[in-house]
Amino acid sequence: MFRAYKYRMYPKREQKDIFTKFFGAIRFVYNWGLEQKIRTYKENDKAISRFALNNELVTLKKENTWLNEVYSQSLQGATLNLEDAFKRFYRKQNDFPGFKSKKNRVQSFNVPQHYKVDFDNNMIRLPKIGWVKTKLHRTFKGKLKTATVSMTNTDKYYISILVDDGEEPPVKMGFSKGTTIGLDMGLTQFLTTSDGVKVDNPRPLKQQLKRLKCEQRKLSRKERGSNNWNKQKLKISKIHERICNVREDFQHKLSKSIVCENQVIAIEKLNIKGMIRNHYLAQSISDVGWSSFMKKLKYKCEWYGKTLLQLGLFEPSTKICSNCGYHNNGIKLHQREWICPNCEKRHDRDINAAVNIRDFALDKQNLISTVGTTEIKLL
Ligand SMILES: [Zn+2]
Repeated sequence: MFRAYKYRMYPKREQKDIFTKFFGAIRFVYNWGLEQKIRTYKENDKAISRFALNNELVTLKKENTWLNEVYSQSLQGATLNLEDAFKRFYRKQNDFPGFKSKKNRVQSFNVPQHYKVDFDNNMIRLPKIGWVKTKLHRTFKGKLKTATVSMTNTDKYYISILVDDGEEPPVKMGFSKGTTIGLDMGLTQFLTTSDGVKVDNPRPLKQQLKRLKCEQRKLSRKERGSNNWNKQKLKISKIHERICNVREDFQHKLSKSIVCENQVIAIEKLNIKGMIRNHYLAQSISDVGWSSFMKKLKYKCEWYGKTLLQLGLFEPSTKICSNCGYHNNGIKLHQREWICPNCEKRHDRDINAAVNIRDFALDKQNLISTVGTTEIKLL
């Protein structure tokens, strides 16, 4: 099984300069490859392959000798990332890939192999860069796979190492309605479970979001590109970083407890209902929050031998009575509670939706993907 371990790096000044060169070269190769792909895509609807790109990379390096200062496999990592971006585009998971900019929040490059980890001395040796001080706060055992070095716009460096521990994923257990949980993702609450538990966004996150709005207003009053503008911009980047840390921590704890306490987790495909009335900022932030939460659910299900059932978006999750199946079209968006006209059961809107998500998933209705067990058998 593969697991990723992330550590903070503390490069020396001259090492930072080499890192900057790496980030620049990777952006250069990525954007060059994207140009080639766009050109061939326009000509015959099919983009040039990664293999052909890597062949042309040889010529590119002859024309731009500075690229030779960068580890060649890291350069090829850029064409691999590009290929992945196109795959996701063809599968309709992503928009058409865009060009990379120096201004992006995170800069990164891959190191597929030939790096060393020294736990005793808290050092990692990278090809063409050398030993870099790294806080190796936890150890691992297994085969080193691709490492990714990244830098944030707050000047912090990280390395994420993919490790294959050589072990098989745990065997999936059978499941029943009682060990299955349905999750309804929302804006009022971060999520509501079919057991009736409502999980709110953490308070520190709300405070940071308020601060972010305030600081962004200040930025808009400053002259673009001025010293004060740059200072304010860094301040905002740091708030973004804090938001990200709080959210990551919250999502890790929540996803772990949900996965550990249940055999099967049923969710809807990314749900954007009820978001239209909200501010653009709140929208984009919650949106990012949900998809990264789902990713965590997915890989944790694999680690712990659990099953994730994903439903296509379906409106009835909020409108069907989970007790008798009556379809109530009269429910308004703002209505938090309703009483079923048929069986007279009183429903909390979100809990009812979560119960429907659980039951629909177990019935294989509207099921679009299953992570884990391939066949659903009710015990
Ligand atoms: Zn009913």
